[in-house]
Amino acid sequence: MPALTPLPAATPPVTMTIHQLPTGSYSTKANMALRGGSRRETVQFAATAVLVQHPSGDVLIDAGLGRDVEKHQQMLPGYRRVEHRVGSPVVDQLAAAGYDPHRLSGILITHSHWDHVSGVPDLAAPVLITAAEVTYAKKQGADKIFTSFSPGHPLREYTFDGGPYLGFAQSHDLYGDGSIVIVPAAGHTTGSVIVFVALPSGERYAFIGDLTWRLEGIEKNIERLFLMRLFADSDRKQVTVDRERIIAIADLVRVVPAHDERGFAGIPLLVQEAGRGPV
Ligand SMILES: [Zn+2]
Repeated sequence: MPALTPLPAATPPVTMTIHQLPTGSYSTKANMALRGGSRRETVQFAATAVLVQHPSGDVLIDAGLGRDVEKHQQMLPGYRRVEHRVGSPVVDQLAAAGYDPHRLSGILITHSHWDHVSGVPDLAAPVLITAAEVTYAKKQGADKIFTSFSPGHPLREYTFDGGPYLGFAQSHDLYGDGSIVIVPAAGHTTGSVIVFVALPSGERYAFIGDLTWRLEGIEKNIERLFLMRLFADSDRKQVTVDRERIIAIADLVRVVPAHDERGFAGIPLLVQEAGRGPV
């Protein structure tokens, strides 16, 4: 057995916390979500944002379904619209929690697809994004949600200026303390990223965006249906390489695919009533 990669050092501040903000879900055929899944079964894809509170600046990881989600659905071509259940958008959950949204210093998106950015225009905080993902979003003919608001929304680009991190060649340590470390995973989209979070409790998370839609993609090494890999991924081989990197460290960090609500289990809700499960 190969030696496990040791966890990189992190000194998260004691006041750092994370919460989940489920904003709704949408239906996907099980056979589309995972190779070998049933054609007759439907799975609910979670659209959940994560709020990381950090004394150097709070960060939202993905923005979920926003107040404009119906408008965003209408902007998609018919074949990409999905049956969905809208919960409470991030902006409303922050308000319900008595959280001043001006404390939010950035919205760190795993990638620019509609179901990750629909909630962005409800908020004033800049989107933390790579140049590669800005370029990707501009080229999308079928998903124009990000580019519908991004000319008027502040973007803050970052680069991978740090060294290797848990098997990934490059990284960006957001606050220099190892608590929020971003690595490139340019397979699902050409600017997709994975966000590693280290908490003062010692817990470690990997928010892997859409590297896999279901936990089985990591736990059982099952990929997406080939048709969906063809349709949804920019670089199928890179998705496999990065998925295998995550599989190699899955004993060390809690892996959270963006759409699998099982991955979020145990992360406290910011607002209790917003946490009702998908229907
Ligand atoms: Zn997605």
